[in-house]
Amino acid sequence: MSGSALQWSTAAAWRADAGSPEPLPHDFVVDGRCPLCGDAIRVETTGRKICFREGLACPRCRTNARHRAAVVTLLEELHGRDDARVYATEQATPFYVALKRRLSNLSGSEYVRDLRRRLRLTGWLWWHGVRECLHFADLTALKRRDASLDAIVSLDVLEHVSEHRLALRECARVLRPGGTLVLTVPFQESMLQSRRLARVRGDGTIEHLIPEPEYHGDPVSGGVLCFHHFGWDLLDDMREAGFAEACARRVHAPGAAIPQPLWVLVATR
Ligand SMILES: [Zn+2]
Repeated sequence: MSGSALQWSTAAAWRADAGSPEPLPHDFVVDGRCPLCGDAIRVETTGRKICFREGLACPRCRTNARHRAAVVTLLEELHGRDDARVYATEQATPFYVALKRRLSNLSGSEYVRDLRRRLRLTGWLWWHGVRECLHFADLTALKRRDASLDAIVSLDVLEHVSEHRLALRECARVLRPGGTLVLTVPFQESMLQSRRLARVRGDGTIEHLIPEPEYHGDPVSGGVLCFHHFGWDLLDDMREAGFAEACARRVHAPGAAIPQPLWVLVATR
């Protein structure tokens, strides 16, 4: 896979080296190959507004550029071990279905408490060739043994978890020493400190800390409340949660149809 990734463990280190990225030309052709399913991805950007993070979907497996940046990172971290014990914090998604074809020991879950919805989503998984039940899991209280996983991949989920530090601690607990957490969030590199947008009160109700609550689209449930805008201190939260190292990587892989560098956070247990 042709590509490159630079990484930084602090905002100061990033600021010291980050020249401004070269702007993309207005009209160009994205021409790459999907690292998940191997299909060709060719998109002409002429006259179109394209989101280089959420767009550029693979025509076969439907993963977007952000998914592929995470996959490129995950596969590098696994050093070709297709039988590694990997957990994804999603399951009823095209990304999970595509990754399951690459990693034989992949497991996943959704934050879906309702049994009837879980049954429906299990049907969706079977329809897509993944013969397993849809599992419920709460990222802040995983029902998994300590040090039982080689890697966790969590894509744009952590910003929807009110107690995100608890979730990071759980990830650190269930990963073996040397195991890796690969995370995407809408990372705001200009912010040193993260900003909390909402919190869950003791009685379970939500307190909004901004006038217009922010909801993000979600393939399983529609709109999901965003609790955080994350900046560089998320890496400190990862280290405090029990990870030995944490860094923010800029993944740039034109050959995987990732024409513009995308942030992927990587923490090693
Ligand atoms: Zn694909």
